[in-house]
Amino acid sequence: MLLIILFIYGSCTGSLLVAMASRYATGGSYLFPASHCDTCQTPLTYWQLVPILSYTLLRGKCQTCGRMIPAITVGVEVIAGLLATTVTDSTSLIIVLWLALWGFAALCDWQTQTFPGWVSWLTTGLSLWGQSPVVWLTGCVLLLTIRLLWPHWHHPTIGDGDLEMMVSYSLLWGVTSTAQWLLAACLLGLWQSRAGTRIAFLPDLMVSAVGWWLVL
Ligand SMILES: [Zn+2]
Repeated sequence: MLLIILFIYGSCTGSLLVAMASRYATGGSYLFPASHCDTCQTPLTYWQLVPILSYTLLRGKCQTCGRMIPAITVGVEVIAGLLATTVTDSTSLIIVLWLALWGFAALCDWQTQTFPGWVSWLTTGLSLWGQSPVVWLTGCVLLLTIRLLWPHWHHPTIGDGDLEMMVSYSLLWGVTSTAQWLLAACLLGLWQSRAGTRIAFLPDLMVSAVGWWLVL
């Protein structure tokens, strides 16, 4: 029963993160207006707000204009639900919160190749939870260095956000796990990359992080 409740909480959070990322991409407010179809602007009724179930009942389409609802919406709702079921104590809660915040950043990055900077600070704060003052100092110095250096680098080979997620991940999981995580993410990135084009790397890092957490 507890797992079902956790799954429902998780899928609702996933649904919220997809909506927030979509509003970040279009420059809209996170709070207003209420949830609506992005094409015909029709407000969603109460049952259309129920994650997973509404997508299934609507067969993936807006009831008014028939526009397809992106399949990633229901994908994120299911994965967020599964992630929530892995919460058993304060440590796993911190990890799931960390994954949810970076998941939001990855959804933003996927649409705009940018994400809100506060995600890096919040997630680094989570990964520094319970760590020694020396680790705290190292984490903050690394993050500040990235923030100060990257604006001066015109064609960086890697985005500052990707690097910030790597710092945060290594603080949380250590060096060996970070190497395994990066290897899987790079393989995903290579598989989808085309010569001469920039890819949003955060979604690959995120898929790899969720994979390692759910599988292991
Ligand atoms: Zn519509």
